[in-house]
Amino acid sequence: MNKKFVERIAAELGEIGKAGLMKTERIITSAQGAEIEVMIPDPGNGSGSGMAGKGHKKVLNFCANNYLGLSSHPAVIEAAHKAIETHGYGMSSVRFICGTQDIHKELEQKLASFLGTEDTILYAAAFDANGGVFEPLFNEQDAIISDALNHASIIDGVRLCKAQRLRYEHNNMADLEVKLKESQSLRNRIIVTDGSFSMDGTIAQLDKICDLADRYDAIVLSDECHSSGFLGKTGRGTHEYRGVMGRIDLITGTLGKALGGASGGFTSGRKEIIEMLRQRSRPYLFSNTLAPSIAGASIVVLDMLSETTTLRDKLEANTKYFRRKMGEAGFDIKAVDHPIVPIMLYDAVIAQQFAAALLEEGVYVIGFFYPVVAKGLARIRVQLSAAHEEHHLDKAIAAFTKVGRKLNVIK
Ligand SMILES: *Cc1c(COP(=O)(O)O)cnc(C)c1O
Repeated sequence: MNKKFVERIAAELGEIGKAGLMKTERIITSAQGAEIEVMIPDPGNGSGSGMAGKGHKKVLNFCANNYLGLSSHPAVIEAAHKAIETHGYGMSSVRFICGTQDIHKELEQKLASFLGTEDTILYAAAFDANGGVFEPLFNEQDAIISDALNHASIIDGVRLCKAQRLRYEHNNMADLEVKLKESQSLRNRIIVTDGSFSMDGTIAQLDKICDLADRYDAIVLSDECHSSGFLGKTGRGTHEYRGVMGRIDLITGTLGKALGGASGGFTSGRKEIIEMLRQRSRPYLFSNTLAPSIAGASIVVLDMLSETTTLRDKLEANTKYFRRKMGEAGFDIKAVDHPIVPIMLYDAVIAQQFAAALLEEGVYVIGFFYPVVAKGLARIRVQLSAAHEEHHLDKAIAAFTKVGRKLNVIK
């Protein structure tokens, strides 16, 4: 045991704590859903990260990525059970040794037809999909042109690749065009963007991005983690929402948000590209197969979403209702359309007090402030779900209004 090393880490943790940047985790004692049970930390119990608590509290959950309410949906749970019975608990292997089952191939095909692509490759997580998509496809002769606010997993994936790197200002098409011109002499250029940006609920302008890609002969990748399953008329994602299905070269996404919420990720696109990833993508080659229960349940999720748009329609109605009522109450709300609803408070201290007061009222939301968002842009992020009923939304709106008045955020 190296004492000096542990002491250095402890000191660095101390600095994180002093800067007020220590992340704590709230412990949920129920299944994920619109109503959850959380542990109330015992104030006498230090960090609050231990198991001892002074009791449980039922709260309304407005901070999960459970957009369609599938995390604990009876049909999804049943499908997972069934897959365990027919295909076992785990594969104890990577895909190319002895880890590919019929349900993995079926899920890949179902994802491809859901997204409007030719083929799909599964990963343990979308973090791995983004980590393993660039290095096999691009090198020094190419350039990756990335939105400045892209997800950490994209940034890490780009780091692992030898391609030249350019960054365009967030959601700024004029700056993207500048970067496309700058890199015109290179072999291939790929424009990379989150389909929806999780802090602001901004939806990427994929239509304009595709037009620029056509003009400058570039490739387009959209990360659909906060979009797949609900954006667009039939829930296919940002490309459907922006009317560019069939024009996106590469789609990465997660099974860990709207599409069931367990875990798992994927990359989808033309079959030649997906085949190259199967040959060369390191997180695919050297990491274990997606659990059969997740593969089996995800197939049922895609069947459900292909049969009916009921869930994404309900999410859309909930989003419209909540955004309208909160606007009427006087709150300053960012973006449009997306079930990520940032309630702007600007002040970091107010954001923390606001979230704490809401929890007292039985509404669980998270305050975000620097460095997660820019200085002076602190906010509470509300995430809506098809699992929310109107009475849940009304309770949240009433709690927001009460706390907002108390903290002088609204009149
Ligand atoms: C959540 C998220 C990921 C990571 O997804 P996992 O499957 O949980 O690894 C990647 N990209 C974006 C944009 C995300 O929001």
